[in-house]
Amino acid sequence: MDRESEADQGHELPDPPDARADRAFMRLALDQAQNAWLLGEVPVGAVLVREGRVLATGYNRPVGDSDPTAHAEIVALRQAASLMGNYRLPGCTLYVTLEPCAMCAMALLHARVQRVVFGAFDPKTGAGGSVLNLFAESRLNHHAQLHGGVEAAACGALLQEFFRERRRLGAQARAGDADAAPQSAAQGGIEVSHLDQPGEEFDD
Ligand SMILES: [Zn+2]
Repeated sequence: MDRESEADQGHELPDPPDARADRAFMRLALDQAQNAWLLGEVPVGAVLVREGRVLATGYNRPVGDSDPTAHAEIVALRQAASLMGNYRLPGCTLYVTLEPCAMCAMALLHARVQRVVFGAFDPKTGAGGSVLNLFAESRLNHHAQLHGGVEAAACGALLQEFFRERRRLGAQARAGDADAAPQSAAQGGIEVSHLDQPGEEFDD
């Protein structure tokens, strides 16, 4: 299959080469996302696969690492490149639970990753077709095959649960404060508005 024409179609691709393997690796990426949640990070996970085997894993941890670049994809790329002693990773497939942002999309292209498979779409920062599609940008030299929406419901549900819990805990904390100085109406409004803040819902 021609890589470039495939990339041009972005996430509209009809069928990946092996849908069952894609779902299995995405579930491993979901396990990685759970690790992020356990550390209080937005739950996004990634696995890098070569010749049917997991080469490296990563999960989102910018807060804990005090590193704005510590997205799941970057963590997995760094681990794999270090392991291979090579900053290029041709022939690899990167699975990630959330559509890559522009930073990660460019890192994946720099690394010459052959194929990128993502789960949930990210309408706010997705660079795999949602906001823009860097994988299909003809003005860039390099392309990767792209397939989105694999296990999208599970990947998206994990993020939604995370933010729901975070809002609940935030509301509880505010309710604790309110015992001392009640002002619940205004606080309720703030809580609901979190949903609509840019980058809040699927911010990795
Ligand atoms: Zn990213």
